[in-house]
Amino acid sequence: METFEILEQTGHEQVVFCSNKESGLKAIVAIHNTTLGPALGGTRMWNYTSVDAALKDVLRLSRGMTYKASVAGLNLGGGKAVIIGDYKTQKNELLFRTFGKFVDGLAGRYITAEDVGTDVRDMEYVRMETKYVTGISKALGGSGDPSPVTAYGVYIGMKACAKQKWGNDSLRGRKIAVQGAGHVARYLCEHLYNEGAELYVTDIAEEKIKILLETVKAHVVKPEEIYDTDAEIFSPNALGAIVNDLTLERLKCEIIAGGANNQLEDEFKHGQAVLSKGILYAPDYVINAGGLINVSNELEGYRQDRAMKQAEGIYEVLQRVFRLSEEQNVPTHVASNKIAEDRLNQVGSIRKIYSGNSNYSGRLGELTHK
Ligand code: NAD
Repeated sequence: METFEILEQTGHEQVVFCSNKESGLKAIVAIHNTTLGPALGGTRMWNYTSVDAALKDVLRLSRGMTYKASVAGLNLGGGKAVIIGDYKTQKNELLFRTFGKFVDGLAGRYITAEDVGTDVRDMEYVRMETKYVTGISKALGGSGDPSPVTAYGVYIGMKACAKQKWGNDSLRGRKIAVQGAGHVARYLCEHLYNEGAELYVTDIAEEKIKILLETVKAHVVKPEEIYDTDAEIFSPNALGAIVNDLTLERLKCEIIAGGANNQLEDEFKHGQAVLSKGILYAPDYVINAGGLINVSNELEGYRQDRAMKQAEGIYEVLQRVFRLSEEQNVPTHVASNKIAEDRLNQVGSIRKIYSGNSNYSGRLGELTHK
């Protein structure tokens, strides 16, 4: 398909190709939708096999950010950037400062952050050239590691799932299988353990398990065995595409609720399969919105207590998602997409009223909308 046809289909507003010979920068910034506010999304650095593959990825990811921000009640649009290159060998100051110049050229329509292959240090180079960057260290007035807020949001979201499934949101005594013992899982397990849940944990890296066991008690299982655990909740916090034909045959859980991105291997097929099996699935981009909530707080002067408070709103958003899913008998991710689209349409109509005032932009939202 021709590029403009693709953009018409995906609904993207703007796609910018950034090229610079001196630094070797080859990057694409995709701004999907700015109805709710400036497009915020991380910069991924990856050795894509072709420019087409990079374009496809940035279009998919930026569209996902529009939905995530919308359903979280934030006044942010959806955007993402990719830098084509090997993050292990090709990162340097010049590359990220050059990228920062391009971001600055977008004059605030796109705000960047870290993502796979980029880190806080890279964002600090970007910040030397533009103020339109988040995810920088606390020492420089940024929000630092987003994982504590992401994990808290997942924990609160898991309670909303329990309430929906069992009529009571206590997780005391519940058996929970946690896949991955990285940043998000570690903080999540602390919340769950403190509430009295029985944890089954796994990771391919033994040292991660060791660190986790310093603060919580848990049964450790082999990575492949996590799907066969006799757990009521399965919490994926490592990989994408983890809800698929093979795992669904083995999972005995009643709830899937975790921080990992893109959990459904095939949104349509596996979203429907989960519904048919009577498993309650918390849409990944709803329950893991704490990370976005965290960086978005930098835009108003970062305070972790405010970010945590906002992340608590994930409970109410999930309740709306489950209600709509029940009413319309649709998978939960279809219900959350609908809620995100409705908000975009509604706020879009307010924007029309203000179209004479180009300075208008709503304050950063909170998760309190009904
Ligand atoms: P992380 O890299 O710190 O942790 C991931 C862990 O998963 C690692 O310890 C890794 O060894 C383990 N792992 C990889 N493959 C595995 C397998 N097959 N079986 C078991 N364990 C395996 O990453 P993180 O920051 O904790 O993020 C976890 C997930 O949550 C990712 O999908 C990420 O995209 C998503 N997410 C994270 C945040 C955040 O704030 N960090 C926000 C939103 C979404």
